[in-house]
Amino acid sequence: MKNNFNKQPYLLHGKVRNYDWGGYDFIPKLLGINSQPNTPHAEYWLGAHEQAPSTINFDNNITMNLCDMLQDNPAYFTQNTQEIRDYKFPFLLKILDVKKMLSIQIHPNLAEASTGYEAENKHQIPFNSPLRVFKDRNHKPEMMIALSKFWLIHGFAPQDIINSRLSKYQSLKKIADDFDNQHLETAFKKLMLLPKNAQTEIIHDFLLELEPLHFDKNSAEFWIKKYTQQVSKDLLNDIGIISILYFNIVALNYKESIFQAPGLPHAYLEGQNIEIMTNSDNVIRGGLTVKHIDINLFLEHLNFSETIPYVYKPIETSKGLVEYSFKECNAFGATWLELSLEQSYHCITSKVEIMLCIQGLVRLAYIFEGQACFITISKGEALLIPIGFEYHLTTKEFSILVKSY
Ligand SMILES: [Zn+2]
Repeated sequence: MKNNFNKQPYLLHGKVRNYDWGGYDFIPKLLGINSQPNTPHAEYWLGAHEQAPSTINFDNNITMNLCDMLQDNPAYFTQNTQEIRDYKFPFLLKILDVKKMLSIQIHPNLAEASTGYEAENKHQIPFNSPLRVFKDRNHKPEMMIALSKFWLIHGFAPQDIINSRLSKYQSLKKIADDFDNQHLETAFKKLMLLPKNAQTEIIHDFLLELEPLHFDKNSAEFWIKKYTQQVSKDLLNDIGIISILYFNIVALNYKESIFQAPGLPHAYLEGQNIEIMTNSDNVIRGGLTVKHIDINLFLEHLNFSETIPYVYKPIETSKGLVEYSFKECNAFGATWLELSLEQSYHCITSKVEIMLCIQGLVRLAYIFEGQACFITISKGEALLIPIGFEYHLTTKEFSILVKSY
């Protein structure tokens, strides 16, 4: 049966993902649900991804997922009649609580995603196979906004930094010499493709050398030690451990943001954030994971340029309002909104929006068929708001909202 949705906001219910690297309390506290001692709450997804689409309750308590709603009601999402037939929901909004480090990874660009997807289809790799890398045809540029101090790996470090890290250790003498004499790309590929027993020996000797030493969070070695303490011994032969020495370690403060373009190596290390990306799950992993690592594919799509991390400071365009948009990517953007008593916010949407309340309680008022209507959301609740829709927000207490579009 086809369900017609009015062009009104709807409460949107996301999906929790219980990956083992997740923390236990942050997401349950945000959502107002009970935490469970043995169940990590790693991610909370809001969007129309086939693997975990958000749902909407409407009319007589019928529940519908966002993918189905989109099929039946494209006009809710787009005004472009050309686009209606192939319209895809433009982004996925996630809350992440990173307790253990995540894998070192890159994401493909559009052309690579499409080619990779076709190739894996041709080889009949099932979507639920751990060997499947390209789960859709989409690219996956990512932006994130820190909700706490947030640590991550982001791009290759400048040459002199890599040099000074490698040259400190006797156990790394050979790879330091290689790095001195060769381009970063050649030296890094050589390291990653060494025979397994040679890699295991380097890692073993290096970890022994690190053992008595202490580091702060700004150093790559701190995260190497943290990783080796969080995994079982049989995972200590992963050359990804050494690769950390080649990357920038970046710390974001609350509300600061960073963008990850296709091909840029990155890994989340610790903290909580909001992550917004295109609607894709295409991840090419290069290390630090029990999941499938295809090192040749990783090296083939990797951007070897030195990266000077660009951290976007939260600059208010008006009181309490920060716009996050990235010149590298016009597929999505985000707004951070802090509202105080007596303050209001007015908007006419130019794209479909998802709005999540991070703190407080907000009332959204609008006119529908000549009637004044309103809907209230509190901490942890989210709204789906249609395109071309006018609304006003007010609050009776200090509140924080994040919306993506
Ligand atoms: Zn990523």
